[in-house]
Amino acid sequence: MPSKSQPTLLGLSIQELTEIVDESGEPAYRARQLFEALYRQRVLSIEAVSTFPTALRGELARRFALGTPRIAGRFASGDGTVRYLVGYEDGESVETVWMPNGDGGEAGDGSAAGASEETGRTPSRGTICVSSQVGCAVDCKFCLTALLGVRRNLTAGEIVGQVLAVLHDQRLEPGRDRINLVFMGMGEPFLNYDNFMKAVRLLAEGVGIAEARMTVSTAGVVPRIRDFGQEPVRPKLAISLNAPTQELRSRLMPITRKWTLEMLLAAAREFPLRTRERLTFEYVLLRDVNDDRGNAQAVVELLRGIRAKVNLIALNPGAGIEFAMPQPERVLAFQDVLIRAGIPTFVRRPRGRDIYAACGQLKRTVA
Ligand code: SAH
Repeated sequence: MPSKSQPTLLGLSIQELTEIVDESGEPAYRARQLFEALYRQRVLSIEAVSTFPTALRGELARRFALGTPRIAGRFASGDGTVRYLVGYEDGESVETVWMPNGDGGEAGDGSAAGASEETGRTPSRGTICVSSQVGCAVDCKFCLTALLGVRRNLTAGEIVGQVLAVLHDQRLEPGRDRINLVFMGMGEPFLNYDNFMKAVRLLAEGVGIAEARMTVSTAGVVPRIRDFGQEPVRPKLAISLNAPTQELRSRLMPITRKWTLEMLLAAAREFPLRTRERLTFEYVLLRDVNDDRGNAQAVVELLRGIRAKVNLIALNPGAGIEFAMPQPERVLAFQDVLIRAGIPTFVRRPRGRDIYAACGQLKRTVA
């Protein structure tokens, strides 16, 4: 059995794997084989790297642990959503959410009905919501994750590991099933930028989930928005706007005091979008706080000149959150103002509210 102090293979790049096989006096193609085994085949043990001779597997297993996280809890919603508690070596854990859509995998227990292992199965479609930190430091006043504070960053391997754990548990195959990733779980991805970006590259190049199927959401870490625009491989970008004025936004999202609304919108305006790409703005509607037509009109003015779409999210309530859910007609009226102004605007369907899996509800709640 690997001891706790062993370094892990999951999370290493092809370059890092090349150094490891080099040290063992093995040829460079072994690094590619190992990369394929870790990310494409997603082996469950080092002994299962079948392209390696037995002796080499043994040597590797003595030096390294694989590093796949453990599923420490699994909570299934009536709407098909499954919230996972994913546990790491040091005892910390985060939450990862599987949200099936379309006809594949809508069964209440989260497993695709009638799945027959590899053959004859209709492709599933769905989205995995991935965490980037244990807890979060950003302290948005309407978000439950904020109550935890930030405990630590996740490594690239720990971020990738969440995806592998869900793929395994739901028997998903990126080559067959249509899988989207949203980096919208616990934490602020742009405050763990390097590990997050490394995970993105491993997921794209190793696991085989196209960058076009990934979206990252930031609360507004302006310098990293600028870095992100320069990345050769990057997900789509979503920005949590949540309020149309500096005054209101800094009350709801203290991060605005450091990176002001003006700085944020300047970065958004200058963000190098790809052909047909739009910037997404998320807006959590809080009853009588930011949800009237005047607020909506102010959002229209702010987004002028930005190729944007808007996702409206009605507040998901939780104990310790002092805001109330907006009235449904307010949500529709808000959407109407934006659509009339020519901004594609969607109301995000709450997923897994009954199991505390919806936006802003991830806080490692056990039941
Ligand atoms: N830290 C990043 C990633 C988290 S994304 C960010 O802030 O963008 C989570 C999304 O859920 C954000 O858009 C956030 O504004 C929203 N959210 C947070 N708390 C919520 C709640 N209680 N109800 C609905 N949405 C919430």
